[in-house]
Amino acid sequence: MMGSLFIVAAPSGAGKTSLVNALVAGHDDIRLSVSHTTRPPRDGEQDGRDYHFVSQDVFAQMRGNGDFLESATVFDNSYGTSSKAVEALLEQGLDVILEIDWQGAQQVRNNFADSTGIFILPPSKATLEQRLRDRGQDNEEVIQRRMRDAENEISHYVEFDYLIVNDDFTEALDKLTAIIIAKRQALATQKHKQSALITELLA
Ligand code: GDP
Ligand code: ADP
Ligand code: 5GP
Repeated sequence: MMGSLFIVAAPSGAGKTSLVNALVAGHDDIRLSVSHTTRPPRDGEQDGRDYHFVSQDVFAQMRGNGDFLESATVFDNSYGTSSKAVEALLEQGLDVILEIDWQGAQQVRNNFADSTGIFILPPSKATLEQRLRDRGQDNEEVIQRRMRDAENEISHYVEFDYLIVNDDFTEALDKLTAIIIAKRQALATQKHKQSALITELLA
């Protein structure tokens, strides 16, 4: 039994964390991979739930050990996805979402050709900046840095399979959910899941 792997990417502030958290809250067979990062926790972020917050030394050691399915430097911090954690979830038949940047997405595609890439866009540049401000978590310098990097992240949208504009939140969540449900019904997924049924029906 193998679950499917989904990559969700977006410029910072487009709403990917809010969308993915809402998706996962409503579906106990969809899990979010918890990344490792050297970034300090924001107010309200919990170690092990939002990220595994680690030192640069621990991160470098993990990378050296080949523990990461992918890793990348984003906004001067290191981020990485643990291979073991993702594989354990997929083997249980759970669908797994990776909230990662475009660099990580390229690495994952090389290992999981069957993964599905979803890119989230904000409805406008002004809205993106407003959301970063309204989130109230980053200082002005960090916000300006993230706005500068947004263009670079967005320029990679063509490398993904699906595109969602996160204007109305509920609508965007519906679209994200639809992609995952559709992928589950794909022949490649169902062929394995329904092999006993198909054998019985064709006997
Ligand atoms: P947010 O996007 O504003 O919520 O900011 P975060 O600090 O949560 O994430 C910063 C960047 O790191 C984003 O572009 C994420 O997609 C990326 N990121 C987070 N986790 C991972 C990871 O495990 N691997 C990679 N490659 N990128 C990650
Ligand atoms: P990301 O993970 O992409 O950086 P977040 O999920 O943290 O983005 O969202 C950034 C901010 O925008 C948050 O304060 C969130 O509540 C808000 N937000 C997300 N989606 C919408 C939306 N559709 N309409 C209005 N605000 C939104
Ligand atoms: P934040 O610091 O705001 O939580 O995340 C900033 C960016 O880092 C986001 O765009 C997010 O997608 C990316 N990111 C978070 N975790 C990972 C990860 O494990 N791998 C990669 N490649 N990017 C990540």
